[in-house]
Amino acid sequence: MIFHLLTIFPEFFRGPLEHGVVARGVKSGLVQIKIHNLRDWTYDVHKTVDDRPFGGGEGMVLKPQPIFEAVEAIWPERDPAKQRIALMSAQGPVFNQARGRQLVEFEELMLICGRYEGVDERVSQFLADEEISIGDFVLSGGELAAAVVVDAAARLIPGVLGNEESSKQESFSALGDDSGARGILDCPHYTRPAVFRGWSVPEVLLGGNHAAIRKWRGEAALEKTNRLRPDLLDSEPGKSQRER
Ligand code: SAH
Repeated sequence: MIFHLLTIFPEFFRGPLEHGVVARGVKSGLVQIKIHNLRDWTYDVHKTVDDRPFGGGEGMVLKPQPIFEAVEAIWPERDPAKQRIALMSAQGPVFNQARGRQLVEFEELMLICGRYEGVDERVSQFLADEEISIGDFVLSGGELAAAVVVDAAARLIPGVLGNEESSKQESFSALGDDSGARGILDCPHYTRPAVFRGWSVPEVLLGGNHAAIRKWRGEAALEKTNRLRPDLLDSEPGKSQRER
């Protein structure tokens, strides 16, 4: 899968996407990351990508022209079934594991990174297929959010994780009996020593009884979900207990 990142800070991704699982995915050829400098599609000496907002007010807005021209240059004949365009935005539906799984169905994904006060709305209206937020808070730019989406999505591409099973047993994947489509949390993990500062790991994990271990893990995952994220066990996702 190819991830395209359209940004005014191409250097930003050095680091976040050059380590661990994502870097291994790139090395193995399963993942490609192409970083595009939005300023390459400007024509003035200052390489201006932003302008003042119509109607007045604070800050600057990213202009539509460099963004539209960049996408059109990268994909002269886009096939929307294979090539997806997402605008990173605090206003989009919040990204999660299920949305990550939908995104990796595409062959290529373009993430447009906003800055300043945001991006001319016509990019959302007439260019992007969707807006993606990584949470209900405002970042200063879309780059960090895009890196989050690339990291989370890349590890869902078959073969990227060394152990094929591991992404199925993670948080938001393992389905409890009636947990709804969002899945429950992963079970707790322990490693050596068996006793650390007087705190012992659960006895069952030290024996070789795999059926008992599986049972304990299932129960522990459910217990932790119930304690930390009871909303995930809600049979009607998106509706809080109080609303029902
Ligand atoms: N004025 C906008 C915020 C602009 S922040 C508003 O109030 O909604 C500048 C850029 O950062 C945005 O264009 C977007 O690309 C990115 N950004 C900010 N918060 C984000 C979030 N939670 N998820 C994804 N991108 C975000």
